[in-house]
Amino acid sequence: MEKSIFSRIIDREIPADIVHEDEHVLGFRDISPQAPVHVLFVPKTPYATLNDVPAGEAELLGRLLLAAAAYARREGFADSGYRVLMNVNRDGGQTVFHVHLHLLAGRPLHADFG
Ligand code: AMP
Repeated sequence: MEKSIFSRIIDREIPADIVHEDEHVLGFRDISPQAPVHVLFVPKTPYATLNDVPAGEAELLGRLLLAAAAYARREGFADSGYRVLMNVNRDGGQTVFHVHLHLLAGRPLHADFG
């Protein structure tokens, strides 16, 4: 299978504005931000969609959420608030087939579920 664009960022084959890295997760700024803060948290293991993540990887999904929360605390907007979301497949609006969590912040986000 062809390497996803996010795997190429993880492997430093293409540049990104990286804001978080640990053994399992990379966080970098979205190239087309939808809010003043828009960061993607991606697992270094390249599952295409949430549907492809095996039950044994529950911890990895938790790590994405906790990396986002740690970033919010570090950047000072944990209390004012933020949104995390994951798009899955066509109707979910997924365009990059490497699991990723969006973190949006820096303006009021309305409860628009599209
Ligand atoms: P999704 O629609 O949930 O699959 O989100 C994919 C996101 O990846 C979009 O918000 C894109 O703007 C973003 N994106 C695509 N290519 C890059 C890139 N090279 N660096 C950073 N973000 C990207």
